[in-house]
Amino acid sequence: MKDKFNEIFRSKGINYLSEDVPLSEFLKFFDFHGDDDLLDLGEYVSSELIEIMDFVDHHGKPELIMWNLDGKRIDYVRLSPEHRRALKKLQDFGVVTKSVSGKQPWMYHFVSGYLISDSGIFCSLTLTAQTAYALKKYFNGKEKFSNNYLDKNDPWYGATFYSETQGGSDLAANKTKAIETENGWVLNGSDKYFASNAGIADGAIVTAMTGDKGIRSLETFFVPAIRKSGDLNFNIRRLKNKLGTIAVPSGEVEFLESEAYLIGERGKGIYYAMEILTISRVDDALAAVGIARKSFWEAYLFTERRSSFGKKLNEHPLMKKDLIMLEAELEASLIISLYAAQLFSESSHIVPPYNNTYNYARFITHIAKNMAAWASDHVTQYSMEIFGGIGFFEEFPMPKFHRDALVTSIWEGTSNIQALDMLETIMKKGVATIFFNDLKTRKEKVKDLKMKEKIEERIKFVENQFNSLMKSDSLEMNSKDLLKLFGQTLSLTLLAQAGSEIGSERLLGVSKVYDIIAFEPSTIQYEEILQKMELVKWMHKN
Ligand SMILES: Cc1cc2nc3c(=O)[nH]c(=O)nc-3n(C[C@H](O)[C@H](O)[C@H](O)COP(=O)(O)OP(=O)(O)OC[C@H]3O[C@@H](n4cnc5c(N)ncnc54)[C@H](O)[C@@H]3O)c2cc1C
Repeated sequence: MKDKFNEIFRSKGINYLSEDVPLSEFLKFFDFHGDDDLLDLGEYVSSELIEIMDFVDHHGKPELIMWNLDGKRIDYVRLSPEHRRALKKLQDFGVVTKSVSGKQPWMYHFVSGYLISDSGIFCSLTLTAQTAYALKKYFNGKEKFSNNYLDKNDPWYGATFYSETQGGSDLAANKTKAIETENGWVLNGSDKYFASNAGIADGAIVTAMTGDKGIRSLETFFVPAIRKSGDLNFNIRRLKNKLGTIAVPSGEVEFLESEAYLIGERGKGIYYAMEILTISRVDDALAAVGIARKSFWEAYLFTERRSSFGKKLNEHPLMKKDLIMLEAELEASLIISLYAAQLFSESSHIVPPYNNTYNYARFITHIAKNMAAWASDHVTQYSMEIFGGIGFFEEFPMPKFHRDALVTSIWEGTSNIQALDMLETIMKKGVATIFFNDLKTRKEKVKDLKMKEKIEERIKFVENQFNSLMKSDSLEMNSKDLLKLFGQTLSLTLLAQAGSEIGSERLLGVSKVYDIIAFEPSTIQYEEILQKMELVKWMHKN
């Protein structure tokens, strides 16, 4: 039988690690080398995973089977055998275990997320990484389950059940109750409404209330899926019908006298919950940009083949500009997401009360998550448009990229919540000073003098805006705009610094284009750089 998937997805066969020039440049800049597994993962994604997940998305949804043949409650989420094999394969690449066990820095896990870039299957691994991270860091072998995630033969999965029907952003609205008994903690509640990986997970990190003092009563627990007796420890009421992220089952979960284990020290639950969430926020950022890259790469290949008015699409000046602008936006969001990944890698050992290294990593993560999600939304949408009408057809993989991109600004905290949390790190932790110092130090490393002057001008502008805003009473109202300004200035500075440090003229060009996008978006441009196809031509495939 002939395999014709490459007729509907031209990127098949690309190695998303070694052939992605900007990624390679950035990894060099961040001094991260990976290993052979990561290289194989880059190839596996385009040659097999995208096809499998596209099929799962359209025809192989996870299904909840509540009872077995003997009438016993099992809450089994049935996955297609190909989906199960794909999960096992990704676990074999060490997407979770290598970073959690310390064999590789956390950067390994985050770069894997960029390569996999499927909001569905990667969500299953993100949740597993978060849970394993918490077990390793806060139980550290003290409980029997703390090392289960290392099992190579029967990979282990995790989940995070925080959000409830009445409030996802506002965790103080949690109604799930935790009570300490002589046999340990037990949870009761039926409001966990967005429980992803339910039915797959061997255990979950769960937030619950121990009293009525709002957020101060919130504690974070590990809850195994199976009780000591061997019965189910929590039930799944139903699975959700979603627009995207189809591969990961998201369900409603009920706790009834469920056995639970307190994470860390009493009274610090919200800190642990947020720390664990930082992993999925960095993951979300990298997956968002990864989705954008795959969708845009596919669109670029289309512009090389398709003609209109006697020319290839990528020869029309208007389309050239489109491609170059999208490329710069994508690279800007990639470099800032990798920066967040690097900062998290360096601060993952820190425990509460947190120091400035951790606070700064969290601050950058809020910014990166929004910048990446916005770019992913825009790039995947316009990549569909590049295909014209067929971009809208579900028989090709393009619409799935966009559907999967849309969730990235919602889950793990919406864009408003990222802006408010960023504000909190400024007001309570004083990270703005660290940020401006970081920008200025990086700017000094830019070798192109014109670019350096421009960045200096941009930093001054943003600093002035920030200082005026701090004196006003409209800080909260403007927090998302502030986040965007910070993100744009940091991305610009990082792009130019990376270009200088690794000696890449291409990157310097990208930084010039990004400066226009960020700081002069509505000015008519005569810049020659907007015709320079070298910035995107590396995506060419024979
Ligand atoms: C596919 C999917 C899977 C998910 N999986 C999980 C999971 O596994 N575990 C989990 O715990 N959660 C999960 N979630 C939940 C997700 O994290 C929440 O939906 C999200 O954090 C928003 O919470 P909410 O839906 O309660 O909206 P709300 O908190 O009610 O927010 C509604 C709107 O109000 C805005 N808003 C809220 N407060 C403010 C404010 N102070 N100022 C300005 N605007 C504000 C928000 O930005 C949003 O636009 C999942 C969600 C989806 C869609």
